[in-house]
Amino acid sequence: MSDHQQPAFIKDDQVVNPYFAPITESARREALRLIAKACPSELPVDLKKVCDYELLPLRFIDIQEDNTGARLRQTRGEWFIEVDNDGTGEDDFSQDKTKMRRQRFSVAHELGHYKFESHCDHVLQGALLSGHNPHADNYLRTREAQANDFATELLLPFSELKPLLNSLDFKNDFFQSVDEIANRFESSMTATLKRIASILDIPVVAIHFAPDGRAHQVPSFSREFKSAGFFFPRDGVIPDNSYAATMYDGKTTAQKGRKAYQDSRLWFPGRRKDDYKTVEWTFSLGSYGILVFLELIEIAEY
Ligand SMILES: [Zn+2]
Repeated sequence: MSDHQQPAFIKDDQVVNPYFAPITESARREALRLIAKACPSELPVDLKKVCDYELLPLRFIDIQEDNTGARLRQTRGEWFIEVDNDGTGEDDFSQDKTKMRRQRFSVAHELGHYKFESHCDHVLQGALLSGHNPHADNYLRTREAQANDFATELLLPFSELKPLLNSLDFKNDFFQSVDEIANRFESSMTATLKRIASILDIPVVAIHFAPDGRAHQVPSFSREFKSAGFFFPRDGVIPDNSYAATMYDGKTTAQKGRKAYQDSRLWFPGRRKDDYKTVEWTFSLGSYGILVFLELIEIAEY
């Protein structure tokens, strides 16, 4: 963090296109560097130590805005993070496990914004996000993805997580084994599942559907998913006849869906080939929507 004398998009007194302002930070590298300095080899990562190290106080308050778990603020030159305590008056992370894990991810996300110099430049942000144009929309998504990448690496470091993936139970209680990992890292279920999907060595995708039934964020997929030629779009909707649709329509009250075997065209209607079966795992996050994990199995091996 430094104080800009000049907005980043003014160079040699010329105004340059702010969307081409260079990004110098790597979200993952910044996160790893911060862990190494603030709380090396400690799991779960101690966010209070990290924030202390950054001289960034946490203030637990009742944030009235919907869907805002935390926010980065600055008053009179001082930066701090406000964390939503849902009006409980608690001055710490919640006693409730699920809530605490969400709070932690929100704080790590805001910390990511803080570590990106460009995100903290009010003048630059004002220029980038002014007006409703496709560049502004894209930029906003990029910025949020950068903060999420930072938070994910901070809370679920690859080197610690990867060895645990052998313990995932793909046969019986997949979500239970993901939950155990989420617990160990004190990270939200959604972040943990998405992280797992991105580093598994088999074709899988994790999709979070918001309460409106749409996938607002880019789904998280493994390299093998992409190289097998599968794709699920951002803003995609829950397909009819999927187990997720049953859960979404409230036809089942179970929090966890049984695993369901599907024809791949149900989830990927654009696909011409019929060479994979889809195993669908569905998990309800209550008022936070629905989490879906799809494992693709080659029919030859099925
Ligand atoms: Zn954000």
